[in-house]
Amino acid sequence: MYAATCQVCQDKARWSEEVIVVLVFAPGLTKPYPLIAAEGYRYCIGGSCDALLTLVRRAVASHPVTRSAGQWTRAIVLHADGSGTNVLWKGSGTVAMA
Ligand SMILES: [Zn+2]
Repeated sequence: MYAATCQVCQDKARWSEEVIVVLVFAPGLTKPYPLIAAEGYRYCIGGSCDALLTLVRRAVASHPVTRSAGQWTRAIVLHADGSGTNVLWKGSGTVAMA
């Protein structure tokens, strides 16, 4: 079971739906590359929390294909309930859209 406190924002966490796949878009990829999430992976969806960005960064860094594909520009996080969250890389900051 997940802890009540988020390790990224140190706040009381609300957890997302379980993550199934992270689709990574990057200049060095001809098509988006799917990274399969660890079973039961969830992230904190607190208002000012950047756990989602941390999730994408870790996923991209964990695989040699996405790691060597250049700066990712966009990622789509797909959840077990069929919903998805669009994450856009904006240089200094990152924008997440439901
Ligand atoms: Zn958090």
